[in-house]
Amino acid sequence: MKLIFATANKHKAEEVRELLGDAFTLLIPADLGYVGDIPETGNTLEHNALEKARFIWKKFGLPCFSDDTGFEVEALNGAPGAFSARYAGDVRNPKANLRLVLKNMDGETHRVACFRCVVALIIAGEEFCFEGRIAGLLLETPRGEQGFGYDPVFCPHGYADSFAELSIEEKNKISHRGQAVRKLVDFLRQYAQQHQ
Ligand code: IMP
Repeated sequence: MKLIFATANKHKAEEVRELLGDAFTLLIPADLGYVGDIPETGNTLEHNALEKARFIWKKFGLPCFSDDTGFEVEALNGAPGAFSARYAGDVRNPKANLRLVLKNMDGETHRVACFRCVVALIIAGEEFCFEGRIAGLLLETPRGEQGFGYDPVFCPHGYADSFAELSIEEKNKISHRGQAVRKLVDFLRQYAQQHQ
């Protein structure tokens, strides 16, 4: 089955391709000649995930999905949350976002945080959402070279390594996106059987 992943983020595409396995051919909009923006204007992960998937569905009419992820820090009342990509300003700058979280948490001892991911799928015009969440601690200084975004400052509960110190396979086993995409895959397998 051909599936379009509504993202321009190559790290995300790599993680998801690893999770989907051989049963699905994963395309990103750039593979179909679209390299423009994919709008995400809402205040919630659900809104943004659906907005991105609807945009790509309208353009190509092929089964497609998107993910929207928020990094939620308890001591910041859940911020940056749905604004994780734009925390330090409208121009997306992951390093500046990470620096701002660390600055806003300077001196704070309650450092529980989580990643929450909503995957929105549109298939034959019907919409479905799947969610994944992982909790851990916000580190005081970035660690590791893998991954992207807030990975260097997030240490999942029960682990000594930050997300940026784990391989893609190790991160996928436990991550917010790994959980949500596995739910997507289970759903698509059943869907394919029912619509043979
Ligand atoms: P979006 O889901 O692409 O809107 O991502 C929101 C923000 O969270 C961006 O700044 C990403 O860099 C960051 N982000 C998304 N997924 C992850 C992840 O798996 N690890 C670390 N940061 C992430």
